[in-house]
Amino acid sequence: MLTQEEILEIRKDFPYLSQEWDKKIVYLDSAATTQKPQGVLDALTDYYKFQNGNPHRGAHYLGQVATEVFEEGRQVVADFIGAKSPNEIIFTNNTTQSLNTLAYILGLNKVKEGDEIVISILEHHSNLIPWQYVAEKTGAKLRYIYIDKDSKELREEDLDQILSEKTKILALTASSNTLGTLPKVKEIIQKAKAKSKDIYTIVDGAQAVPHHKVDVQDLDCDFYAFSGHKLLAPMGIGVLYGKEEKLNDLPPFFYGGEMIEYVYEDHSTFLKAPMRFEAGTQNVGGVKGLVAAIRYLQAIGLDEIDAYEGQLTQYCYDQVKDMDFLDLYTVKNNHRGSVITFNLEGIHPHDVASIMDSYGIAIRSGHHCTQPLHRYLGINASCRASLAFYNTREEVDQFVTHLNDVRRMMG
Ligand code: PLP
Repeated sequence: MLTQEEILEIRKDFPYLSQEWDKKIVYLDSAATTQKPQGVLDALTDYYKFQNGNPHRGAHYLGQVATEVFEEGRQVVADFIGAKSPNEIIFTNNTTQSLNTLAYILGLNKVKEGDEIVISILEHHSNLIPWQYVAEKTGAKLRYIYIDKDSKELREEDLDQILSEKTKILALTASSNTLGTLPKVKEIIQKAKAKSKDIYTIVDGAQAVPHHKVDVQDLDCDFYAFSGHKLLAPMGIGVLYGKEEKLNDLPPFFYGGEMIEYVYEDHSTFLKAPMRFEAGTQNVGGVKGLVAAIRYLQAIGLDEIDAYEGQLTQYCYDQVKDMDFLDLYTVKNNHRGSVITFNLEGIHPHDVASIMDSYGIAIRSGHHCTQPLHRYLGINASCRASLAFYNTREEVDQFVTHLNDVRRMMG
Protein backbone atom coordinates (compact mmCIF):
# COMPACT_ATOMS: atom_id res chain seq x y z
CA MET A 1 0.00 0.00 0.00
CA LEU A 2 1.31 3.47 -0.89
CA THR A 3 2.31 5.37 2.25
CA GLN A 4 1.59 9.04 2.94
CA GLU A 5 5.33 9.73 2.55
CA GLU A 6 5.23 8.15 -0.92
CA ILE A 7 2.16 10.20 -1.84
CA LEU A 8 3.95 13.38 -0.76
CA GLU A 9 6.84 12.43 -3.06
CA ILE A 10 4.40 11.69 -5.92
CA ARG A 11 2.78 15.11 -5.45
CA LYS A 12 6.11 16.78 -6.25
CA ASP A 13 5.72 15.47 -9.83
CA PHE A 14 2.55 17.58 -10.26
CA PRO A 15 3.30 21.30 -10.71
CA TYR A 16 -0.34 22.22 -10.02
CA LEU A 17 -0.37 20.43 -6.67
CA SER A 18 2.78 22.11 -5.43
CA GLN A 19 1.83 25.67 -6.26
CA GLU A 20 0.89 28.01 -3.42
CA TRP A 21 -1.62 30.73 -4.22
CA ASP A 22 -2.97 32.95 -1.45
CA LYS A 23 -4.15 29.62 -0.07
CA LYS A 24 -3.30 26.01 -0.79
CA ILE A 25 -5.69 24.28 -3.18
CA VAL A 26 -7.11 20.94 -2.13
CA TYR A 27 -8.10 19.48 -5.49
CA LEU A 28 -11.00 17.07 -5.07
CA ASP A 29 -12.36 17.15 -8.62
CA SER A 30 -10.29 14.51 -10.37
CA ALA A 31 -13.39 12.76 -11.75
CA ALA A 32 -13.90 15.92 -13.83
CA THR A 33 -10.27 16.02 -14.92
CA THR A 34 -6.97 14.99 -13.38
CA GLN A 35 -3.92 17.15 -12.78
CA LYS A 36 -0.91 16.45 -14.97
CA PRO A 37 2.56 15.29 -13.89
CA GLN A 38 5.61 17.11 -15.25
CA GLY A 39 6.51 14.08 -17.42
CA VAL A 40 3.25 14.44 -19.33
CA LEU A 41 3.77 18.18 -19.81
CA ASP A 42 7.34 17.53 -20.99
CA ALA A 43 6.16 14.85 -23.43
CA LEU A 44 3.74 17.32 -24.96
CA THR A 45 6.23 20.17 -25.32
CA ASP A 46 8.98 17.80 -26.52
CA TYR A 47 6.69 16.60 -29.26
CA TYR A 48 6.00 20.13 -30.47
CA LYS A 49 9.63 21.20 -30.06
CA PHE A 50 11.37 18.26 -31.71
CA GLN A 51 8.99 15.87 -33.46
CA ASN A 52 6.13 17.90 -34.91
CA GLY A 53 5.02 16.72 -38.32
CA ASN A 54 1.81 15.49 -39.89
CA PRO A 55 1.59 11.70 -39.45
CA HIS A 56 0.94 9.32 -42.34
CA ARG A 57 1.72 12.02 -44.89
CA GLY A 58 4.78 12.61 -47.00
CA ALA A 59 8.17 11.00 -46.89
CA HIS A 60 10.16 13.62 -45.01
CA TYR A 61 11.83 12.91 -41.69
CA LEU A 62 9.44 14.76 -39.35
CA GLY A 63 6.41 13.19 -41.00
CA GLN A 64 7.96 9.80 -40.29
CA VAL A 65 8.83 10.71 -36.70
CA ALA A 66 5.27 11.87 -36.04
CA THR A 67 3.93 8.66 -37.59
CA GLU A 68 6.19 6.60 -35.31
CA VAL A 69 5.08 8.54 -32.19
CA PHE A 70 1.44 8.06 -33.16
CA GLU A 71 1.66 4.36 -34.03
CA GLU A 72 3.86 3.48 -31.05
CA GLY A 73 1.22 5.22 -28.91
CA ARG A 74 -1.43 2.99 -30.42
CA GLN A 75 0.55 -0.09 -29.36
CA VAL A 76 1.06 1.29 -25.81
CA VAL A 77 -2.69 1.92 -25.45
CA ALA A 78 -3.50 -1.54 -26.86
CA ASP A 79 -1.20 -3.17 -24.30
CA PHE A 80 -2.57 -0.93 -21.50
CA ILE A 81 -6.14 -2.17 -21.94
CA GLY A 82 -5.32 -5.70 -23.10
CA ALA A 83 -6.45 -5.31 -26.73
CA LYS A 84 -5.46 -8.08 -29.16
CA SER A 85 -4.03 -5.70 -31.74
CA PRO A 86 -3.22 -1.98 -32.14
CA ASN A 87 -5.69 -2.03 -35.05
CA GLU A 88 -8.39 -2.11 -32.38
CA ILE A 89 -7.42 1.30 -30.99
CA ILE A 90 -9.00 4.39 -32.56
CA PHE A 91 -7.91 7.78 -31.33
CA THR A 92 -10.71 10.29 -30.69
CA ASN A 93 -11.01 13.52 -28.71
CA ASN A 94 -12.63 12.02 -25.62
CA THR A 95 -15.18 9.49 -24.34
CA THR A 96 -18.04 11.60 -25.65
CA GLN A 97 -16.71 11.47 -29.20
CA SER A 98 -16.00 7.74 -28.90
CA LEU A 99 -19.58 7.00 -27.80
CA ASN A 100 -21.18 9.35 -30.33
CA THR A 101 -19.12 7.74 -33.09
CA LEU A 102 -20.57 4.39 -32.07
CA ALA A 103 -24.09 5.81 -32.00
CA TYR A 104 -23.70 6.95 -35.62
CA ILE A 105 -21.74 4.10 -37.18
CA LEU A 106 -23.17 1.24 -35.17
CA GLY A 107 -26.49 2.50 -33.85
CA LEU A 108 -27.81 4.00 -37.06
CA ASN A 109 -26.59 1.06 -39.18
CA LYS A 110 -27.31 -2.03 -37.12
CA VAL A 111 -30.31 -1.13 -34.96
CA LYS A 112 -33.86 -1.49 -36.36
CA GLU A 113 -37.40 -1.00 -35.17
CA GLY A 114 -38.29 -3.72 -32.65
CA ASP A 115 -34.72 -3.89 -31.29
CA GLU A 116 -33.89 -2.74 -27.78
CA ILE A 117 -31.02 -0.63 -26.53
CA VAL A 118 -30.24 -1.25 -22.87
CA ILE A 119 -28.40 1.26 -20.67
CA SER A 120 -28.48 1.95 -16.93
CA ILE A 121 -29.81 4.86 -14.92
CA LEU A 122 -26.22 5.48 -13.79
CA GLU A 123 -25.09 6.62 -17.24
CA HIS A 124 -23.35 9.92 -17.88
CA HIS A 125 -25.24 11.94 -20.50
CA SER A 126 -22.59 11.01 -23.06
CA ASN A 127 -23.61 7.35 -22.80
CA LEU A 128 -27.32 8.20 -22.69
CA ILE A 129 -28.28 10.97 -25.10
CA PRO A 130 -26.58 9.31 -28.12
CA TRP A 131 -28.74 6.20 -27.48
CA GLN A 132 -31.87 8.33 -27.13
CA TYR A 133 -30.97 9.70 -30.56
CA VAL A 134 -30.47 6.23 -32.05
CA ALA A 135 -33.76 5.03 -30.56
CA GLU A 136 -35.58 8.05 -31.98
CA LYS A 137 -34.04 7.63 -35.44
CA THR A 138 -34.48 3.86 -35.73
CA GLY A 139 -37.69 3.20 -33.79
CA ALA A 140 -35.82 0.96 -31.33
CA LYS A 141 -36.81 1.00 -27.67
CA LEU A 142 -34.44 2.49 -25.06
CA ARG A 143 -34.63 0.54 -21.79
CA TYR A 144 -33.04 1.28 -18.42
CA ILE A 145 -31.60 -0.92 -15.72
CA TYR A 146 -32.31 0.89 -12.43
CA ILE A 147 -30.43 0.81 -9.15
CA ASP A 148 -31.52 -0.16 -5.68
CA LYS A 149 -32.04 3.22 -3.98
CA ASP A 150 -30.44 2.04 -0.75
CA SER A 151 -27.37 0.09 -1.87
CA LYS A 152 -26.97 2.04 -5.17
CA GLU A 153 -26.16 -1.22 -6.98
CA LEU A 154 -27.79 -2.20 -10.29
CA ARG A 155 -30.96 -4.24 -9.63
CA GLU A 156 -30.38 -7.88 -10.49
CA GLU A 157 -34.10 -8.33 -11.20
CA ASP A 158 -33.94 -5.57 -13.83
CA LEU A 159 -31.04 -7.28 -15.53
CA ASP A 160 -32.97 -10.55 -15.61
CA GLN A 161 -36.15 -8.92 -16.90
CA ILE A 162 -34.78 -6.39 -19.36
CA LEU A 163 -31.99 -8.24 -21.15
CA SER A 164 -33.58 -10.42 -23.82
CA GLU A 165 -33.18 -11.68 -27.39
CA LYS A 166 -34.36 -8.21 -28.48
CA THR A 167 -31.33 -6.50 -26.91
CA LYS A 168 -29.24 -5.20 -29.77
CA ILE A 169 -27.03 -2.82 -27.82
CA LEU A 170 -25.95 -2.93 -24.20
CA ALA A 171 -24.08 0.26 -23.26
CA LEU A 172 -22.96 0.39 -19.66
CA THR A 173 -20.67 2.41 -17.45
CA ALA A 174 -17.88 0.52 -15.71
CA SER A 175 -17.83 3.10 -12.90
CA SER A 176 -20.48 5.68 -12.04
CA ASN A 177 -19.08 9.20 -11.96
CA THR A 178 -21.82 10.17 -9.50
CA LEU A 179 -22.30 7.27 -7.07
CA GLY A 180 -19.06 5.32 -7.47
CA THR A 181 -21.03 2.16 -8.29
CA LEU A 182 -18.95 -0.42 -10.17
CA PRO A 183 -21.40 -2.56 -12.15
CA LYS A 184 -20.22 -6.14 -12.65
CA VAL A 185 -19.63 -5.43 -16.31
CA LYS A 186 -18.05 -8.77 -17.20
CA GLU A 187 -20.91 -10.81 -15.72
CA ILE A 188 -23.55 -8.53 -17.22
CA ILE A 189 -21.97 -8.83 -20.68
CA GLN A 190 -21.95 -12.63 -20.32
CA LYS A 191 -25.59 -12.59 -19.26
CA ALA A 192 -26.57 -10.32 -22.16
CA LYS A 193 -24.71 -12.47 -24.69
CA ALA A 194 -26.38 -15.60 -23.37
CA LYS A 195 -29.77 -13.99 -24.02
CA SER A 196 -29.08 -12.24 -27.31
CA LYS A 197 -26.77 -13.74 -29.94
CA ASP A 198 -26.86 -10.66 -32.13
CA ILE A 199 -25.79 -8.06 -29.57
CA TYR A 200 -23.14 -5.32 -29.40
CA THR A 201 -21.71 -4.58 -25.96
CA ILE A 202 -20.23 -1.19 -25.15
CA VAL A 203 -18.47 -0.09 -21.98
CA ASP A 204 -18.01 3.53 -20.88
CA GLY A 205 -14.67 3.30 -19.12
CA ALA A 206 -14.15 7.05 -18.52
CA GLN A 207 -14.07 6.62 -14.73
CA ALA A 208 -12.67 3.08 -14.66
CA VAL A 209 -9.45 3.30 -16.66
CA PRO A 210 -7.79 5.89 -14.36
CA HIS A 211 -8.34 3.77 -11.26
CA HIS A 212 -8.28 0.04 -12.06
CA LYS A 213 -6.50 -2.34 -14.43
CA VAL A 214 -8.68 -2.93 -17.48
CA ASP A 215 -8.55 -5.97 -19.74
CA VAL A 216 -10.95 -5.66 -22.65
CA GLN A 217 -10.40 -9.26 -23.76
CA ASP A 218 -11.27 -10.52 -20.30
CA LEU A 219 -14.39 -8.30 -20.22
CA ASP A 220 -15.20 -9.58 -23.72
CA CYS A 221 -16.89 -6.29 -24.59
CA ASP A 222 -17.13 -5.30 -28.25
CA PHE A 223 -16.30 -1.63 -27.65
CA TYR A 224 -14.73 0.38 -24.81
CA ALA A 225 -14.40 4.17 -24.54
CA PHE A 226 -12.27 6.44 -22.36
CA SER A 227 -10.72 9.93 -22.15
CA GLY A 228 -7.03 10.74 -21.70
CA HIS A 229 -7.62 13.83 -19.56
CA LYS A 230 -9.14 11.76 -16.75
CA LEU A 231 -5.95 9.70 -16.53
CA LEU A 232 -3.29 12.42 -16.28
CA ALA A 233 -3.01 12.98 -20.05
CA PRO A 234 -3.81 16.24 -21.89
CA MET A 235 -7.33 17.18 -22.91
CA GLY A 236 -8.30 16.43 -26.50
CA ILE A 237 -7.15 12.81 -26.72
CA GLY A 238 -9.50 9.89 -26.19
CA VAL A 239 -9.81 6.25 -27.18
CA LEU A 240 -12.37 4.02 -28.77
CA TYR A 241 -11.45 0.34 -28.56
CA GLY A 242 -13.36 -2.06 -30.79
CA LYS A 243 -12.90 -5.72 -31.71
CA GLU A 244 -11.21 -5.67 -35.09
CA GLU A 245 -13.83 -7.70 -36.96
CA LYS A 246 -16.63 -5.56 -35.52
CA LEU A 247 -14.89 -2.33 -36.49
CA ASN A 248 -14.23 -3.51 -40.03
CA ASP A 249 -17.90 -4.35 -40.40
CA LEU A 250 -18.88 -0.70 -39.79
CA PRO A 251 -18.84 2.29 -42.14
CA PRO A 252 -16.64 5.35 -41.54
CA PHE A 253 -18.03 8.26 -39.55
CA PHE A 254 -15.95 11.23 -40.73
CA TYR A 255 -14.79 11.34 -44.32
CA GLY A 256 -11.63 13.06 -45.54
CA GLY A 257 -7.86 12.73 -45.49
CA GLU A 258 -6.00 9.56 -44.55
CA MET A 259 -9.02 7.26 -44.17
CA ILE A 260 -9.32 6.38 -47.86
CA GLU A 261 -7.96 3.68 -50.08
CA TYR A 262 -8.94 5.18 -53.46
CA VAL A 263 -11.03 8.21 -54.34
CA TYR A 264 -12.76 8.45 -57.72
CA GLU A 265 -14.96 11.27 -58.95
CA ASP A 266 -18.13 9.41 -58.08
CA HIS A 267 -17.17 7.10 -55.21
CA SER A 268 -14.42 6.15 -52.77
CA THR A 269 -13.10 3.08 -51.01
CA PHE A 270 -11.84 3.11 -47.45
CA LEU A 271 -9.01 1.72 -45.37
CA LYS A 272 -9.63 -0.78 -42.60
CA ALA A 273 -9.64 0.08 -38.88
CA PRO A 274 -8.14 2.01 -37.28
CA MET A 275 -7.44 4.52 -40.05
CA ARG A 276 -10.93 4.19 -41.50
CA PHE A 277 -12.13 6.04 -38.39
CA GLU A 278 -9.38 8.64 -38.13
CA ALA A 279 -10.10 11.20 -40.84
CA GLY A 280 -8.04 14.38 -40.84
CA THR A 281 -4.97 15.44 -38.91
CA GLN A 282 -4.72 13.64 -35.59
CA ASN A 283 -3.62 14.77 -32.13
CA VAL A 284 -0.13 13.26 -32.12
CA GLY A 285 1.06 15.45 -29.24
CA GLY A 286 -1.94 14.25 -27.24
CA VAL A 287 -1.02 10.63 -28.00
CA LYS A 288 2.52 11.26 -26.78
CA GLY A 289 1.11 12.83 -23.61
CA LEU A 290 -1.22 9.85 -23.17
CA VAL A 291 1.70 7.44 -23.46
CA ALA A 292 3.62 9.41 -20.82
CA ALA A 293 0.54 9.32 -18.55
CA ILE A 294 0.11 5.56 -19.00
CA ARG A 295 3.79 4.94 -18.26
CA TYR A 296 3.55 7.16 -15.18
CA LEU A 297 0.55 5.23 -13.85
CA GLN A 298 2.22 1.90 -14.64
CA ALA A 299 5.42 2.96 -12.84
CA ILE A 300 3.40 3.51 -9.66
CA GLY A 301 1.28 0.43 -10.39
CA LEU A 302 -2.46 0.40 -11.06
CA ASP A 303 -3.03 -2.17 -8.32
CA GLU A 304 -1.24 0.11 -5.85
CA ILE A 305 -3.31 3.08 -7.04
CA ASP A 306 -6.53 1.09 -6.80
CA ALA A 307 -5.76 -0.09 -3.26
CA TYR A 308 -4.71 3.35 -2.02
CA GLU A 309 -7.67 5.18 -3.55
CA GLY A 310 -10.05 2.57 -2.16
CA GLN A 311 -8.66 3.06 1.31
CA LEU A 312 -8.65 6.88 1.05
CA THR A 313 -12.24 6.93 -0.22
CA GLN A 314 -13.31 4.66 2.64
CA TYR A 315 -11.50 6.96 5.11
CA CYS A 316 -13.53 9.88 3.75
CA TYR A 317 -16.76 7.86 3.59
CA ASP A 318 -16.40 6.77 7.23
CA GLN A 319 -16.02 10.38 8.36
CA VAL A 320 -19.03 11.77 6.51
CA LYS A 321 -21.49 8.87 6.78
CA ASP A 322 -22.56 9.67 10.33
CA MET A 323 -22.86 13.45 9.92
CA ASP A 324 -26.51 14.05 10.76
CA PHE A 325 -26.74 17.12 8.48
CA LEU A 326 -25.42 15.29 5.42
CA ASP A 327 -27.26 13.08 2.90
CA LEU A 328 -24.76 10.68 1.40
CA TYR A 329 -25.43 9.15 -2.03
CA THR A 330 -22.20 7.20 -2.62
CA VAL A 331 -22.63 3.44 -3.16
CA LYS A 332 -22.44 1.50 0.12
CA ASN A 333 -20.24 -1.33 -1.20
CA ASN A 334 -16.64 -0.45 -0.27
CA HIS A 335 -15.47 -1.73 -3.66
CA ARG A 336 -16.29 1.55 -5.40
CA GLY A 337 -15.05 4.44 -7.49
CA SER A 338 -13.31 7.31 -5.67
CA VAL A 339 -16.30 9.63 -5.30
CA ILE A 340 -18.14 10.97 -2.27
CA THR A 341 -21.43 12.52 -3.38
CA PHE A 342 -23.71 14.27 -0.92
CA ASN A 343 -25.92 17.19 0.00
CA LEU A 344 -25.90 19.26 3.17
CA GLU A 345 -29.48 19.49 4.35
CA GLY A 346 -31.13 22.81 3.51
CA ILE A 347 -28.08 24.21 1.69
CA HIS A 348 -27.90 24.41 -2.10
CA PRO A 349 -24.99 22.38 -3.51
CA HIS A 350 -23.66 25.43 -5.39
CA ASP A 351 -23.51 27.35 -2.08
CA VAL A 352 -21.68 24.44 -0.46
CA ALA A 353 -19.15 24.29 -3.32
CA SER A 354 -18.68 28.08 -3.31
CA ILE A 355 -18.00 28.22 0.41
CA MET A 356 -15.71 25.19 0.17
CA ASP A 357 -13.89 27.02 -2.63
CA SER A 358 -13.37 29.99 -0.32
CA TYR A 359 -11.48 27.56 1.96
CA GLY A 360 -9.44 26.37 -1.02
CA ILE A 361 -11.30 23.05 -1.40
CA ALA A 362 -12.24 22.31 -5.02
CA ILE A 363 -15.34 20.09 -5.23
CA ARG A 364 -17.99 19.85 -7.93
CA SER A 365 -21.63 20.79 -7.57
CA GLY A 366 -24.53 20.31 -9.98
CA HIS A 367 -25.94 17.27 -11.72
CA HIS A 368 -22.57 15.87 -12.90
CA CYS A 369 -24.11 15.11 -16.32
CA THR A 370 -26.44 12.54 -14.76
CA GLN A 371 -29.79 14.35 -14.62
CA PRO A 372 -31.95 11.21 -14.97
CA LEU A 373 -30.03 9.60 -12.08
CA HIS A 374 -30.50 12.68 -9.88
CA ARG A 375 -34.20 12.76 -10.73
CA TYR A 376 -34.49 9.04 -9.90
CA LEU A 377 -32.88 9.75 -6.51
CA GLY A 378 -35.35 12.60 -5.97
CA ILE A 379 -32.81 15.43 -6.04
CA ASN A 380 -31.90 18.17 -8.51
CA ALA A 381 -28.23 18.45 -7.78
CA SER A 382 -25.49 17.30 -5.43
CA CYS A 383 -21.92 17.97 -4.34
CA ARG A 384 -19.15 15.60 -5.33
CA ALA A 385 -15.64 15.23 -3.94
CA SER A 386 -13.60 12.95 -6.19
CA LEU A 387 -10.27 11.59 -5.08
CA ALA A 388 -7.14 10.50 -6.91
CA PHE A 389 -3.97 8.74 -5.75
CA TYR A 390 -2.27 12.14 -5.33
CA ASN A 391 -4.68 13.15 -2.57
CA THR A 392 -3.65 12.73 1.07
CA ARG A 393 -5.48 11.83 4.27
CA GLU A 394 -4.70 15.33 5.49
CA GLU A 395 -6.62 16.76 2.54
CA VAL A 396 -9.58 14.53 3.37
CA ASP A 397 -9.42 15.81 6.96
CA GLN A 398 -9.48 19.42 5.69
CA PHE A 399 -12.46 18.61 3.49
CA VAL A 400 -14.35 17.16 6.47
CA THR A 401 -13.41 20.05 8.78
CA HIS A 402 -14.63 22.60 6.26
CA LEU A 403 -17.88 20.72 5.64
CA ASN A 404 -18.54 21.28 9.34
CA ASP A 405 -17.64 24.96 8.88
CA VAL A 406 -20.13 25.28 6.00
CA ARG A 407 -22.81 23.75 8.17
CA ARG A 408 -22.01 26.17 11.04
CA MET A 409 -21.98 29.18 8.70
CA MET A 410 -25.26 28.30 6.98
CA GLY A 411 -27.02 26.30 9.67
N1 PLP B 1 -18.60 8.94 -18.98
C1 PLP B 1 -18.35 9.15 -17.69
C2 PLP B 1 -18.70 8.07 -16.70
C3 PLP B 1 -17.80 10.36 -17.27
O1 PLP B 1 -17.56 10.57 -15.97
C4 PLP B 1 -17.50 11.34 -18.23
C5 PLP B 1 -16.97 12.65 -17.82
O2 PLP B 1 -17.09 13.07 -16.70
C6 PLP B 1 -17.76 11.06 -19.57
C7 PLP B 1 -18.30 9.86 -19.92
C8 PLP B 1 -17.46 12.06 -20.64
O3 PLP B 1 -16.08 12.29 -20.70
P1 PLP B 1 -15.52 13.44 -21.64
O4 PLP B 1 -16.14 14.71 -21.19
O5 PLP B 1 -14.04 13.39 -21.41
O6 PLP B 1 -15.90 13.07 -23.02
